Amino acid sequence: MKVRFKPTQVLPIYVGSFGEFTEGEYEVDDEVGKYLIETFPDNFEEVKEEGEEVEDADEDNLRCQAITRSGKRCTRKVVPGEKFCAIHLKYKESEE
Ligand SMILES: [Zn+2]
Repeated sequence: MKVRFKPTQVLPIYVGSFGEFTEGEYEVDDEVGKYLIETFPDNFEEVKEEGEEVEDADEDNLRCQAITRSGKRCTRKVVPGEKFCAIHLKYKESEE
């Protein structure tokens, strides 16, 4: 897997096969990468490889789930992590 290192004010104390990290992306073993991300969530994040995109496979789930008054499915993109677009998300919140 690939991880991206983001230097912060407090640098992680990590003694391993990497001596010094500078900002950038590193190809590491899955085990090491997970360890780094779990242990230093502020400093490391996973870099998704190209080809692992879920957007194409899940396109339908990225569309707003709302049905408009004319009976058609809303075609806007959802807010990340939500089932509705920004407009219908607000609408739904005000309804509840
Ligand atoms: Zn919508």
